[in-house]
Amino acid sequence: MNCKKIIPLLLLLLPAFALAMENHKAHEHGKVDFDITVDNKEMLIMMESPAQSVLGFEKKIESKEEKEKVQIAQNKWLNQYKTFIDFPGIENCQTKDGKWSLEGSGGSHLEVKAEMTFTCAAVIKGKITIDPNAYSSSIEEAHFDFLGPNSKTKTGSVKKKQKIIIEL
Ligand SMILES: [Zn+2]
Repeated sequence: MNCKKIIPLLLLLLPAFALAMENHKAHEHGKVDFDITVDNKEMLIMMESPAQSVLGFEKKIESKEEKEKVQIAQNKWLNQYKTFIDFPGIENCQTKDGKWSLEGSGGSHLEVKAEMTFTCAAVIKGKITIDPNAYSSSIEEAHFDFLGPNSKTKTGSVKKKQKIIIEL
């Protein structure tokens, strides 16, 4: 096989490889992963995280206090997202398919998986800001993958008290 044949094959395999990597995000306490996709008037934001990074603990939910912390984190994601997500025109967006769940990830570990779709009145552009610590003070580091119009991508990590900023 010559190079001309090998390279297109590699390019063909790359998205599948990237997808496989996406599905196996490392479970590291303190870290959170965000996936943000913008297409015209729609934005999909997904978060995957060890429960520890979001709740400040990671165990079977038993006590009243633990149940309350779960409710607060869930409610903040589903209803009070403006406290940690901002972009021009957010006030003219509808949200749908909001999800926030706690799932076992093998052994005694728990994961938070959350997502939200915004459908806005106008094309989304300008500065998208996500403030991970405004969502949870237990987050030490946030990684993000962004996919936007014209296949624009951005990937990065922010440390505690830093914001994720994406310019469109
Ligand atoms: Zn864990």
